[in-house]
Amino acid sequence: MNTISEVLSKNVARAAVVLMAVVMAGYLAARAVEFLVTFAAEAFLAAIGRPEIVIHGREIYLDYVIDAVLGLAIAGIIVMLVLRSRSNLGADRSAHADQPLHACPYCLSKIPVAATRCSFCTADVSPAGV
Ligand SMILES: [Zn+2]
Repeated sequence: MNTISEVLSKNVARAAVVLMAVVMAGYLAARAVEFLVTFAAEAFLAAIGRPEIVIHGREIYLDYVIDAVLGLAIAGIIVMLVLRSRSNLGADRSAHADQPLHACPYCLSKIPVAATRCSFCTADVSPAGV
C-alpha cells in the first residue's frame, strides 16, 4: 500500500507535468497562430490603409492592437480546448452506467467496483470485492 507522501508526491509530479504540457502546447500553438494572424492583419490593413491612432501624442498602430487582441483570443481558446479535452478523459461512462459503484479511496468519487484506476484522480485502486 502506498503511503500518503508517496501518493501526494506522485500526484503533484503528475499535475506539474500536465501543467507544463498545457503551458507549452498553448505557447507553441499561440506562436503558430500569431504567425497567421499577422498575415491576416497585414492583409486587412493593406486593404483599408494603415490608420494610426494618436493618444496623448503617442502613435498607436492598429495592426499591433489587432495582433494583440487576436493572439490573446486564440491563445485563450486553445488553452480552453486543451483543458476541456483533459477534463473529458473520463467522460465515456455510459458503457459502465449499469455497473455498481463504490467510492475511490483517494478522492472519494464514485467509480465502478471493477475499476483498477480512478477516472477522476487517476489513482491506482484495487477492484472492490476482489
Ligand atoms: Zn479517485
